[in-house]
Amino acid sequence: LSPVPSDIEISRSQSPKAIELLAREVGLLPDEIEAHGKTKAKVRLSLLDRLKEQPDGKYVLVAGITPTPLGEGKSTVTVGLAQALTAHLKLNSFACLRQPSQGPTFGVKGGAAGGGYAQVIPMEEFNLHLTGDIHAITAANNLVAAAIDARVLHEATQSDKVCARFERLCSSRRLPPSPLQKLGIDKTEPGALTPEEIRSFVRLDIDPSGITWQRVVDTNDRFLRKITIGQASTEKGQARQAQFDIAVASEVMAILALTDGLRDMKERFSRMVVGSSRTGRPVTAQDLGVSGALAILMKDAIKPTLMQTLEGTPVFVHAGPFANIAHGNSSVLADKLALKLVGEEGFVVTEAGFGADIGMEKFFNIKCRTSGLRPNVVVLVATVRALKMHGGGPKVAFFSRCSPWQNLQLVADGCSNLRKQIEIAQLFGVPVVVAVNVFRTDTEAEIDLVCRIARDSGASDAVACYHWSRGGRGCVELARAVRKAAQQPNHFRFLYDLQMPIVEKIRTIAQKVYGADDVEVSQEAQAKIDNYNEQGFGNLPICMAKTHLSLSHLPDWKGVPTGFLLPIRDVRASIGAGFIYPLVGTMSTMPGLPTRPCFYDMDLDPDTEQIAGLF
Ligand code: ADP
Repeated sequence: LSPVPSDIEISRSQSPKAIELLAREVGLLPDEIEAHGKTKAKVRLSLLDRLKEQPDGKYVLVAGITPTPLGEGKSTVTVGLAQALTAHLKLNSFACLRQPSQGPTFGVKGGAAGGGYAQVIPMEEFNLHLTGDIHAITAANNLVAAAIDARVLHEATQSDKVCARFERLCSSRRLPPSPLQKLGIDKTEPGALTPEEIRSFVRLDIDPSGITWQRVVDTNDRFLRKITIGQASTEKGQARQAQFDIAVASEVMAILALTDGLRDMKERFSRMVVGSSRTGRPVTAQDLGVSGALAILMKDAIKPTLMQTLEGTPVFVHAGPFANIAHGNSSVLADKLALKLVGEEGFVVTEAGFGADIGMEKFFNIKCRTSGLRPNVVVLVATVRALKMHGGGPKVAFFSRCSPWQNLQLVADGCSNLRKQIEIAQLFGVPVVVAVNVFRTDTEAEIDLVCRIARDSGASDAVACYHWSRGGRGCVELARAVRKAAQQPNHFRFLYDLQMPIVEKIRTIAQKVYGADDVEVSQEAQAKIDNYNEQGFGNLPICMAKTHLSLSHLPDWKGVPTGFLLPIRDVRASIGAGFIYPLVGTMSTMPGLPTRPCFYDMDLDPDTEQIAGLF
């Protein structure tokens, strides 16, 4: 239809097929799914075992150029491409998407189910509670937070009593074995533990100022960025400053995205470092005895959720780690299940958050390293509006108001960013296809120019995509180009070796990916790096926390910035997830609401239960 109706109108105009039918179509057995209503189902991980001999399908990553704040259409391309491969080229395909945080849905950006005629349906279920995974993450994360503060309080007020009781139990051998094992003690003989040993097991001696674990909530609530907790008299003077992060920034979410099964997830939970003791020793979730409870809370969230596109193509929605302080990719498990289900000739299209310099780099160096999966093709999404901005043109708000407005010079200048992002993908040895996501404000001459420059810059192909206004049939050319590129020889390689020193790894990313001259490591960051090396965490991959709005650390610096030093302000670690994250500038982990949030336009009809205003 022209004009294209709103996302919610399009979503509602299509009746999704029953989830049991979709599951049957993709080859799932009835006892491999757990239906949540009529249009969503969790898929059991036992499938991996059943299909372990089945060869994987082709693995396609959708990444993008440096975007405008509104996004350039990676999710819509991911969905449109899967629709085109299945409905129009008759190939098995799966789209794997991240579950969006509810914060931005009610705040600035709106939904993330794709858009126009390339979206996941029902889009309101996708964008809101889905199957409760983010709620489970919130519960698990906050249980750790509660355990930390309760432990500090109990140690401060009752430690002598607890020590004495523990000592009595040890000597009378009445302590059941499991809590002992949880505490890492296998000696239960009376007198086998010295009072000092007992005290060191009982007392974690957490330094309140060294607690790095934060509480989370999935709402853009800026007033929780800095809070004081423990102000009631019952907490006996243990008040301290703390903060809330958005739920998807939790390390529990990053672990969900990287784990390959329940056993691994439990082990990762137990390794999570939540702070340090007064002597500088890292304190873990295992030390708090909470990792088993976390596994219980997350046992269903670990199963990917099956949904469908407007054209009935299968989709896995699973995990959605914050793309700046974490790696911003959907789950390893969803990709693995989908690669088995599509079979050798099929395609799995998965998406990396932000521009290729961030999302794709982390997809390769962190996600692929963890999963062992190797991508066959990178699809790089570009828009004329973002390229004009990189060429020195107006901010994106201008385009939503104007009619087609041709400026070939701005487009040509802005293609420097596209060229650089193609080069970055080529550093990893994977063929690149450029997808120009066409907006109604673009002209044919501009689109042709972008495609020509992309091919001249080494892309295997570059095509215009009309999936947003036409669905899968508007993306068939891209599907053909991807199928062809997947036949090309693939020379995948990582950008750095894990054994390199931490600063060398950071420098490699800064110079080769961002184009920096060098890095400038603050004293605070260097001290943390020394500390991580001493603690044995030096061999982890790097997850840069940098703005996605520029290749540099300055969001307003468009195109291809050169001649800069990348400042490394601080360095932190997610030990359970398994990466070190250097902070380039300040990173907010709790977004705020704007003066005119999206929820102003939202409503529910109490008679029909229909939702209005989600876009
Ligand atoms: P990203 O995944 O890169 O952040 P999305 O695919 O979520 O971007 O798209 C961002 C927004 O832009 C969505 O609201 C989507 O519906 C809209 N959009 C994407 N492509 C087009 C297009 N070709 N024309 C108009 N709107 C589009």
